[in-house]
Amino acid sequence: MNYVADMHTHTIASGHAYNTITEMAKAAADVGLKLLGITEHAVSMPGTCHNFYFQNLKMVKRELFDVELALGVELNIIDYDGNVDMEQSLLSQMDVAIASIHTGIKYEAGSITQNTNAILQAMKNPYINIIGHPDDSRVPMDYKELVLASREFNTLLEINNNSLTPGGWRVNPYENDKHILELCAENNIPIIIGSDAHSFDKVGCHDYAIKLIDELHFPQELIANYNIKLIKKYINKYRKEC
Ligand SMILES: [Zn+2]
Ligand SMILES: [Zn+2]
Repeated sequence: MNYVADMHTHTIASGHAYNTITEMAKAAADVGLKLLGITEHAVSMPGTCHNFYFQNLKMVKRELFDVELALGVELNIIDYDGNVDMEQSLLSQMDVAIASIHTGIKYEAGSITQNTNAILQAMKNPYINIIGHPDDSRVPMDYKELVLASREFNTLLEINNNSLTPGGWRVNPYENDKHILELCAENNIPIIIGSDAHSFDKVGCHDYAIKLIDELHFPQELIANYNIKLIKKYINKYRKEC
C-alpha cells in the first residue's frame, strides 16, 4: 500500500506558513501523493486569512500536477460546547474541515470532562471531518470516549506528525497518541496521519507518526492515508460520492 493522502497542510494564507497552493501541490506530486488537503487556519488565529478567502475557494482549481486538491479549513474549537469559528453555512462549503483546540486561541484548557465534551460536540457537527492533534496533556481528554465517538460520528482522529517531531511544544504527544492508537486498534477504528506542513518540504511527512505506528504494530488497514476510498468516506467533498 502507498501513502497517498495528506489532508492537513497550510499555505501563506494561514499567516505563519510559507508557500503557495501551487508550491504545496507540486511538493505533494513530488512525494507521490494523489490527494492533498489544504486547511487554512480559521479567523481566530492571528494573521490568518479573512472569511472572504474561504468563501472564494470555489474559484480555485481542484487538481494540480495530477494531485487532487481538497481545499478547506482548520477550525478553532472555541468553547467547551464544541463551537467553532466559522458559520455553519460557510463550513458546509469547505471540501475538508479539521477542528482543533489551539490553547490560548479563544480556548482555555478545562477539566477532562470539559475538554472531552468540546471535542465530542465538535465531532457531532456533520461538516467536521477530522479532529486535529488531540494529543496535548495541557488539554487532558478521555481518549476512550473520543475514540468510540469517532466511529459513532464518522470523524477521524489525527496523529499529527508535527506534534511528534522533537522540539514541539505540545506536552506528551507520544504517550497520548500511543493511547489513541491502542484504543483504535482494539476497537477496529481508523485514524488519519496529518503532516500539518507549514512549508513545502513537510508535505506528506509522516516519519515520526509511522515510527510510533510501527512500534505498536498498528494495522495498516486502519490508517486512512493509505486508502483513498476510506479517506473519502470522511471528507465533506466526497461524502456524496461514497
Ligand atoms: Zn492546529
Ligand atoms: Zn494545522
